[in-house]
Amino acid sequence: MQQFEGSCQCGQVRYRVSGRVATLFACHCRDCQRQSASAFGMALWLRDAELTLLQGVTASWPRHTPSGRITDCQFCPQCGSRLFHQNRDTPQFLSIKPGSLDDTGWLRPAAHIWTQSAQPWLALPAEVPSWPQNPDDFAALIAAWQAAPGDCRG
Ligand SMILES: [Zn+2]
Ligand SMILES: [Zn+2]
Repeated sequence: MQQFEGSCQCGQVRYRVSGRVATLFACHCRDCQRQSASAFGMALWLRDAELTLLQGVTASWPRHTPSGRITDCQFCPQCGSRLFHQNRDTPQFLSIKPGSLDDTGWLRPAAHIWTQSAQPWLALPAEVPSWPQNPDDFAALIAAWQAAPGDCRG
């Protein structure tokens, strides 16, 4: 088990989460670009996650994905920072928006997905597996994390 703390941009919502890191990947789809209002989104998937709000409350929006799934998206109601995603059909994983963590220095995406819509100026590392869209099976992203060098895997 690992434990992390983080907060939204304005600081009204602070959280602590414990769990086992299943994977960390970057998604370059247009939806993640729009959600992050930036070049790509990152997702840190935790298994057996226990989430504690230390301060504040989140608001939630159910996102209907193009593939027909529903993701509950939690964010700070004051500043709008997106913090957590939970896919209703994969409740074993809690997805954290890891830019909200207090310590982001260890974040190294183990995979890149939806590279077909990646910003053209972005040079992706050749040694990190990537897919033009979603991988056929998201287990590939977990395998990529397990195969990645690094000392942060839990
Ligand atoms: Zn906030
Ligand atoms: Zn995406």
